[in-house]
Amino acid sequence: MTDRARALDILRWHLDAGVDETIGEAPLDRFEVSARPPPRAPAPPPPPRRARPAPDLAMENPETAAAGAQALAQAAGSLEELRAALAGFDDCPLKHTASNLVFADGAADAPVMLIGEAPGAGEDRQGLPFVGVSGRLLDRMLASISLDRTNIYITNILPWRPPGNRKPTPAESTMCLPFLRRHIELKAPKLLVFLGGTSAATLLERREGITRLRGRWFLYRGPGGPLPAMPTYHPAFLLRQPALKRDAWSDFLAIRDRLDDLA
Ligand code: URA
Repeated sequence: MTDRARALDILRWHLDAGVDETIGEAPLDRFEVSARPPPRAPAPPPPPRRARPAPDLAMENPETAAAGAQALAQAAGSLEELRAALAGFDDCPLKHTASNLVFADGAADAPVMLIGEAPGAGEDRQGLPFVGVSGRLLDRMLASISLDRTNIYITNILPWRPPGNRKPTPAESTMCLPFLRRHIELKAPKLLVFLGGTSAATLLERREGITRLRGRWFLYRGPGGPLPAMPTYHPAFLLRQPALKRDAWSDFLAIRDRLDDLA
């Protein structure tokens, strides 16, 4: 095998394993690093909060993980406590492949809470939702109805990036959902906006696609009581289908009207 064929083979292996980004200029042999004897520490490190085996990439039973998530989320009495509980939740395999937890952005007292799908590469790097290309389009859409990150609140169905930006699996959504439902309850917005089909279908428990759901008001039935909720297109979808921006614009006008009625 030539050097070039071998290099292409290795590259293909990495792509198949979900690696889609390089973060350093020089290669680092992590097997060699982890085989080195640990440096002598003056004192032993504190024990981990929950002793768990190394990243368990074989999927946990999602129902068991969801029950653990429910207990942790319920015990959180504030958004900060919820962020800490999520940061300590080891049962979702995505936590072990992501660089950062992406909890939320915006104003905690904003009347409107937007919910997207999952962080992408830029969000994973910065630990903030919607900071990439689709985030920039979203910011322009929000600005068109006089909103920005100081008067909205935004989060995602999943708080960790799925490798390769793939769609969340039902198991991942199931185990993270108790945190999101508690997130909505603690944040207590006046209305919700679901960005894209994954968010709308997960939170409304509907099977229709986003084309059928968008532009209509639904009731999200959460533990804090029912809330009006509007599904609309995900900005990443609008980047691929710009002709649909017209419909999204009409959805955003309806959201503006509803906010004005609440004021
Ligand atoms: N897409 C999402 O759904 N969420 C983000 O945070 C970024 C892109």
